[in-house]
Amino acid sequence: MRVLCTCLLVVLGAVTSATPAQTPRGGRPNIIYIMTDDHAAHAISAYGSKVNTTPHLDRLAREGALLTSVFATNSICTPSRAAILTGQYAHINGVTMFNRFDSSRMTVARLLQQSGYYTGMIGKWHLGSDPVGFDRWEILPGQGAYRDPLFYTATDEKVYTGEYATDVITDRALDFLQNRARDKPFFLMMHHKAPHRPWQPNDEHGAHFASQRIPEPVTLWDSYATRTDALYENQQRIAADLTNRDLKLTPPASLMGPELSRWLGTKPELVTLVRDGKDVTLTGEELTRWKYQRYMQDYLATVQSVDDSVGRVLAYLDKAGLARNTMVVYTSDQGFFLGDHGMFDKRFMYEESIRMPFLVRWPAGIKPGTRSDALGLNVDFAPTFLEVAGLPASAEMQGRSLAPVLRGRTPADWRSSMYYRYYHDPGDHNTRAHYGVRTRTHKLITFWKKDQWELFDLVNDPYELHNLYGQPGQEALTATLKAELVRLKRELRDDDQLADVQLPSGVDGAVARLRGK
Ligand code: CA
Repeated sequence: MRVLCTCLLVVLGAVTSATPAQTPRGGRPNIIYIMTDDHAAHAISAYGSKVNTTPHLDRLAREGALLTSVFATNSICTPSRAAILTGQYAHINGVTMFNRFDSSRMTVARLLQQSGYYTGMIGKWHLGSDPVGFDRWEILPGQGAYRDPLFYTATDEKVYTGEYATDVITDRALDFLQNRARDKPFFLMMHHKAPHRPWQPNDEHGAHFASQRIPEPVTLWDSYATRTDALYENQQRIAADLTNRDLKLTPPASLMGPELSRWLGTKPELVTLVRDGKDVTLTGEELTRWKYQRYMQDYLATVQSVDDSVGRVLAYLDKAGLARNTMVVYTSDQGFFLGDHGMFDKRFMYEESIRMPFLVRWPAGIKPGTRSDALGLNVDFAPTFLEVAGLPASAEMQGRSLAPVLRGRTPADWRSSMYYRYYHDPGDHNTRAHYGVRTRTHKLITFWKKDQWELFDLVNDPYELHNLYGQPGQEALTATLKAELVRLKRELRDDDQLADVQLPSGVDGAVARLRGK
């Protein structure tokens, strides 16, 4: 106990008054980790959203820290969840795609539970195996349903007839807080299904957004000129890949069973609407614009319910007197394309897809209005929670605690580049496997199966429209980034694709060393 207390005093510095030496356990902060599914940072007004307003999320940002440069290491649901729990990259934790998570693995939840935290998991789990390391869990099976959601517990199941998933998850999370073990700090993972496809809003927000006209992103009509085949081949395009189900079109009354399912999954090339009493058929650009509106109206309406949920959690903490020493984290398992590059999903290593919102309020430990552009990763979350709980870092974890960043004191040796890798190919949306490196100023991506590359200058081309790879004058930069990519692969022990990394002369030595030659 004394060791723990000493650790806390060192780690938390300015907040030692909240962690009196005689009651170290009582001084450990509570942690509420709120994670949504596919909520892009650019749909949060604190992040400069042009498409919506999120007052409760903005409150978190105002009263705590907002990190602008936190990224998923593999921008897809299940792998990001595994990376968050284990603090490990996909090639180490074994969840590269939609693999079943090996629940015997070490996780941050297990470590916190073992150290005396009362732990809970409420909402979308999506890891294929039952949660472990939680005193209480209530999860949606698989993707779960927005309406009339079914929940599983360790011993039971229940359908919440007539209810909306975001509200049920909030209700169950508040129930966890109210009925928690009072003699322990708590760690609650509260995972929303929203705003994941098929973007089904509740009635109130759905009706509100249905009358809104959402501004189009500047890259909605991205022509993909200069880019690799992967962009031309992707099947997550607003223009071509939204289905009748996504667009909430009304099926013909005669369709039933498999025929109805087939119709709902069809991607319409024309849509006939009734306007001013007349049938109007939309095609081409006009149809794409209409599809974008339908998609975004529903997406943003589901986000608004999430914002309401955050408001309820914060109100509870205020009322219960828990606000000061409870760390509230808000993030998403990855970002999302909101029509950016003409797309609606994620997976690609482009900014809108990999950037995760990361808001953290903890009055006892973080100054209001803290801002940082330090490069953070989803594998950093677990080490962060361990540190604020006064626990030693786990040698198995590959991430690094963000606690000093949140305190406004980013270490001088903080990372200046990150490694990314996407595996699901062939997979949904026909997105090609790729990996790459992002620095604070540039990004290099290789679609290794085709030996095709993309190089972007993030400072002068923040929307990543101009692929510089192979252009005259880029040789030195390209060589530097390839060397950094190899260095990161070596450091992170991801070495199975090295033979496919074609390096210019001068850096082959790094590959040879990496291959152990
Ligand atoms: Ca997701």
